[in-house]
Amino acid sequence: KEADQAWLQKLYDGILQQDRSALARGITLVESWRRDHRRVAQNLLDRILDVLHDRWSHVQSLGSRAVSTVTLKNNQTTTTLPTPFRIGLSGPPGAGKSTFIETFGMFLVNQGLRVAVLAVDPSSSVSGGSILGDKTRMTELSRNDAAYVRPSPSRGSLGGVTRNTSDAIVLCEGSGYDVIIIETVGVGQSETAVADMVDLFTLIVPPGGGDELQGIKKGIVELADFVIVNKADGDLLPAARKAKSEYTSAMKLLRPRTASWTPEIAMLSSLDSTGLADAWKLMLQFYDSQMKGGEFFLKRSQQRKRLMWKHVSDGILERFQAHPEVSRVIAGAEQQVMQGLVAPGLAADELLDRFR
Ligand code: GDP
Repeated sequence: KEADQAWLQKLYDGILQQDRSALARGITLVESWRRDHRRVAQNLLDRILDVLHDRWSHVQSLGSRAVSTVTLKNNQTTTTLPTPFRIGLSGPPGAGKSTFIETFGMFLVNQGLRVAVLAVDPSSSVSGGSILGDKTRMTELSRNDAAYVRPSPSRGSLGGVTRNTSDAIVLCEGSGYDVIIIETVGVGQSETAVADMVDLFTLIVPPGGGDELQGIKKGIVELADFVIVNKADGDLLPAARKAKSEYTSAMKLLRPRTASWTPEIAMLSSLDSTGLADAWKLMLQFYDSQMKGGEFFLKRSQQRKRLMWKHVSDGILERFQAHPEVSRVIAGAEQQVMQGLVAPGLAADELLDRFR
């Protein structure tokens, strides 16, 4: 339709021209469940992807020479990245995620980088409220022209949320953001989902090892490419040092996730803004190692393949449940299974037989 075309064109132009409100509207669009919206959204994404493909094909052909550069001029360091850097950040509530993103985001902006912050918050789909989103967050960063902070996390099923977030990342990159930070909270399956849409998956933890270390799901530590021990300041400094050494030994026991990188541990204070430069240096070492080892784009292409299958499986389930022959008997089948009258596997087979 013509109106859709005009709408699409406006969003597309706005996003490429780095207009934040166009980006915000674009993300709202890709989050929409409405069928007509989704058609426009897919169109928009497709066009932005074309642009990104053109931008990146050059970088990809640079191969191992596509690395970050850091220059020092007039006492000011500037970082240049050949292609956007997607950083996942997870950690238990209270670890200091918001505080870290605020300070670290400002640090990156001062390095001449444009920073976007997105959130995946599965709690909002379960309870209706959200752990990450309800407080005013990152006020200084959100006011900065070089930053975009998505104000409230997406709502919906985790599957939907992660799909939307992958799309939102594409739009942010279309809008020229160099670093995309995807924040998530240590509940549910969100870490795995976020780890599968970023280049570097970071775990942020408060000081204190031992008991605290056990409080963090072991699986998350295994996913981490990078661990940040936050709050390394004042009275907490000794505990932070201890935590750092405990994480160092814990991570030595893990199998490296990629050939060219062994997880690193950094210690910093988001409150005092200390240790940020060292942490960033390690993150850039990761970025460069992945580029040099050829894993950077390989990982992204595998992530895209998995995302396609995720779309397929979500779509099949959606169609299955909406299928007239199936939907008529779903409630009955569930009841019988719940009462133990029919075996779950048998009930599933009978439902599947109706789906043609
Ligand atoms: P989140 O739940 O992970 O987003 O954690 P917040 O960013 O909301 O921080 C939780 C609490 O830890 C707040 O009271 C912060 O002020 C405090 N905090 C965060 N970073 C630091 C830090 O580097 N040092 C100290 N001492 N406190 C911090």
